[in-house]
Amino acid sequence: MTTRATELLRVVHARPGVTRADAARLIGVGTGATTELVGRLGQAGLLAEEPAAPSGARGRPTTSLIPHPRGPLIAAASITHEAWRVDVVELGGGTLATVREEVGGHSGGEVVAAIGAAVTRLRRQYGDRIRGIGISAPGTVSRDLVLDASALGWHDVDLAAAWPGAEIFVAGNDATLAASAESHRGVAVGASVALHLRIEAGLGGAVVNGGQVLVGALGAAGEFGHMPFGDPAVACPCGAYGCWGTAVDGSALARLLGHDQPRDPVSYARRIIAATDPEPAAATATVAAALGRGIAGLVNGLDPDLVTLGGLGADLLAAAPQPLEEAYRAGLMAFRRASPPPVLAAALGDDGPLAGAAEEAWTALLASLV
Ligand SMILES: [Zn+2]
Repeated sequence: MTTRATELLRVVHARPGVTRADAARLIGVGTGATTELVGRLGQAGLLAEEPAAPSGARGRPTTSLIPHPRGPLIAAASITHEAWRVDVVELGGGTLATVREEVGGHSGGEVVAAIGAAVTRLRRQYGDRIRGIGISAPGTVSRDLVLDASALGWHDVDLAAAWPGAEIFVAGNDATLAASAESHRGVAVGASVALHLRIEAGLGGAVVNGGQVLVGALGAAGEFGHMPFGDPAVACPCGAYGCWGTAVDGSALARLLGHDQPRDPVSYARRIIAATDPEPAAATATVAAALGRGIAGLVNGLDPDLVTLGGLGADLLAAAPQPLEEAYRAGLMAFRRASPPPVLAAALGDDGPLAGAAEEAWTALLASLV
């Protein structure tokens, strides 16, 4: 396959349904050559066309470029503290099938085995079309696909067991993948520097610089929840004291309300944040302020265009925007206050990590089709 053909597939992946005329402009190729490219990609089972809605412009009617009905697919999986899910994702990011199950106290190895069984069933259904897998996991993922999720008590979990010998296998931290997805398909598209923060059981995130996620020397960058912006007296499961994550998640709400540490910290936090009684509302405001203050520190240090919040971060922003905003502004250096980078809910919401896993796997697949 030529470079031009790969570029065309990338354009259709980024903008599913793009017209053939727009795609030709975007890859800088004449309409005749593009028609020939589309024909070849159609024969290769990679691309299809359908009539485009009339644009009102003069000239020959164009067509929309869409995934081939028998084209390649990716399995994208996400593991959270409470459930796992596998989607079958086509070119352009559309979902063809979803399988979902509760984690329900299972070990990391058992969850990976259950995902593997789901992938095997999906491959029976879709045949060779499923070419690889991307997995999002709530912890650090080493280069050899071993997961360590300290908040779940999972260590040395072999993610590769989900599909041994897969042609394409990518895996990463949920917050990092959500950041990547937000920069590909969410509100951070086109940002020069975007900061994404995601709160689940703890806080993670990533800096995306010019569309590239900063992954760090060991691949473990973005552990913003373990910066000491929290109460120095509070121990974090990571082994440090005073971690910011312990001031903004379900454990922080439980501490403020005098509750035992919740077994399901994310559902617990969602319930508290949604409650309107004065006591939970005050705890939510305190936690939202701790979030806003830390965001100010990161904005002072990193100078992003915008900050996106995923997971419980979006819930806190919706429930207590004022304490969050006030603490954010108070922590900003004065010269930033006139036009502070906006703090926005991530457009992809809870789907961000799975969308990011699909993006990473599709990026690898598109490169392998060359
Ligand atoms: Zn920590």
